Amino acid sequence: MTTPEVSPSPHVLDAWRNERVFPVLTSQQITHFAGQGRRRTTTRGEVLLDVGDRTLASFLVLSGELEILRPGATNETTIVTLGPGQFSGEGNLITGRRSLSRIRVREAGEVVELHRDQVLTLVQTNAELSEILMRAFILRRSALIASGLGDVVVIGSAHCTGTLRVKEFLTRNGHPFHYIDLDHDADAQELLDRFHIEAGEVPVLLCGADSVLRNPTNARIAECLGFNDAIDRTDLRDLVIVGAGPAGLAAAVYGASEGLKVLVIEANVPGGQAGSSSRIENYLGFPTGISGLELTGRAYAQAQKFGADIMIATGATKLACERQPYSVDVGESTRVSSRSLIIATGAEYRKPQLERLSRFEGAGVYYAATPMEAQLCVGDDVIVVGGGNSAGQAAVFLAQTAKRVQVFVRRGALADTMSRYLIRRIEDNPAIVVRTNTEIVGVDGDNHLKRVQCRDNRTGDVETADVAHVFMMTGAVPNTAWLNGCIALDDKGFIKTGPDLSAEDLAAFNWPLTRPPYLLETSRPGVFAVGDVRARNVKRVASAVGEGSIAVSFVHELLQKS
Ligand SMILES: Cc1cc2nc3c(=O)[nH]c(=O)nc-3n(C[C@H](O)[C@H](O)[C@H](O)COP(=O)(O)OP(=O)(O)OC[C@H]3O[C@@H](n4cnc5c(N)ncnc54)[C@H](O)[C@@H]3O)c2cc1C
Repeated sequence: MTTPEVSPSPHVLDAWRNERVFPVLTSQQITHFAGQGRRRTTTRGEVLLDVGDRTLASFLVLSGELEILRPGATNETTIVTLGPGQFSGEGNLITGRRSLSRIRVREAGEVVELHRDQVLTLVQTNAELSEILMRAFILRRSALIASGLGDVVVIGSAHCTGTLRVKEFLTRNGHPFHYIDLDHDADAQELLDRFHIEAGEVPVLLCGADSVLRNPTNARIAECLGFNDAIDRTDLRDLVIVGAGPAGLAAAVYGASEGLKVLVIEANVPGGQAGSSSRIENYLGFPTGISGLELTGRAYAQAQKFGADIMIATGATKLACERQPYSVDVGESTRVSSRSLIIATGAEYRKPQLERLSRFEGAGVYYAATPMEAQLCVGDDVIVVGGGNSAGQAAVFLAQTAKRVQVFVRRGALADTMSRYLIRRIEDNPAIVVRTNTEIVGVDGDNHLKRVQCRDNRTGDVETADVAHVFMMTGAVPNTAWLNGCIALDDKGFIKTGPDLSAEDLAAFNWPLTRPPYLLETSRPGVFAVGDVRARNVKRVASAVGEGSIAVSFVHELLQKS
């Protein structure tokens, strides 16, 4: 099966022509750039870097011309031509992922070649070039995403549960893909039929030049695209951070920028719960709000810029805490060791105990309200379940595009659980109806959710509503099962730290030191817990970020003493 040709749209080409995306460096900037790399002559037609290459480099043109191409199955599309003073490269130089394009010499001349580690050194040491390079790399990656110009094609349907998951995984990893919707493209369906691809094997993902993945797991996609290839798993790290939500990313930024050898392990995608928020309005410095995806996407790039390695789609499965340095089992076959550990595994949405619920996950039942889910229910009725801030945010956001939003709350009012500003927005919005003392007791449909049964808890009456989209925002449970009994938890499974650890807790976990645990330290010396996973944490992005950065200062103190 060959990858369909995808042409960049005119507005994307405009982005490529923009001088912020492809700036021309001044002679002084060229001297600094050249100081890190190697000058080399080029010959016409020479390919300096090809699609799929793992050894990445940026080329600064001194004379002659380079062209950036995207090869298709039958032809090549020229994305942009670079002249003297312009440099190649995009986001993958920061992430260490394979090249998505071909760089060929159009006119012979001379270039400066900087390998990825030299680019990282440059952005860490030269503030002026760091800004120019980071901005250009991020904008170029955004343009690739907007145009779908990548090495991935997803063939899926809104009626199959895996499609939304796969699209979300690629989007939240900033990986460009072209989407073909089987519900609207009869040719694509015929193609799948011809290759005997059954309904249960959708979505199909064409990955790189030759892999066809049928309803792949996120881990399989990450493997196919080589997301974790550049990471050394044998190295003893100064700091391993488990979880790449706001808390883990903050710890990674502070740890790596202060010179620690940092590895982050993320079970799914960077961003955590915050990444699924449509608009965060109470985070300092963003008066008009910022989408969770954008905020955490920036943090992800920032952590990598400072040299933190971030291993994704592969979770920590066990903590080995008997001896130091501690080890963490990752996935099925990897074990990483570290002199210190920050646990930032957060919490995940509680899934109501409803028969057949999992069948509709991604096909009518959602646990996040981002533009991707909103797109699936434009002009339709939706139900948001929950009375907390995330439910309020989802309702206000979805009401912009849905016909009507019903908010189901088990309690008698919103006031106890939701911020005042959200309650007012809900009250002022005629498209939102709050139904208190109400809960969903059944879900029904075929390939997609079609109706729900809901009960009035005061009367016990059950009615059926023809609603095909339900957003479950019903609180969270901590991700601590993988800790293997190594760490003291509270009665709800959250990790106890610092002054919350009683003398009995410390005795039960054989605390070996004369000093008491530091503020965010757990019942194991050198193991910290931050963010939503921590007992008595305020469940907010700001507190997660604050705790992630504070924990790093204790890590420094410990490492200096050891
Ligand atoms: C829809 C929604 C809207 C919200 N809106 C706001 C808001 O407007 N303002 C605000 O302040 N807060 C908001 N919050 C709360 C805020 O997002 C959380 O408090 C914050 O994300 C907590 O950050 P964290 O890093 O501690 O945990 P999380 O964000 O939960 O991140 C934990 C990460 O750890 C990973 N992980 C879990 N287990 C493992 C494992 N075994 N191995 C490796 N990785 C693992 C997870 O995949 C996840 O990426 C919102 C939450 C939601 C869900």
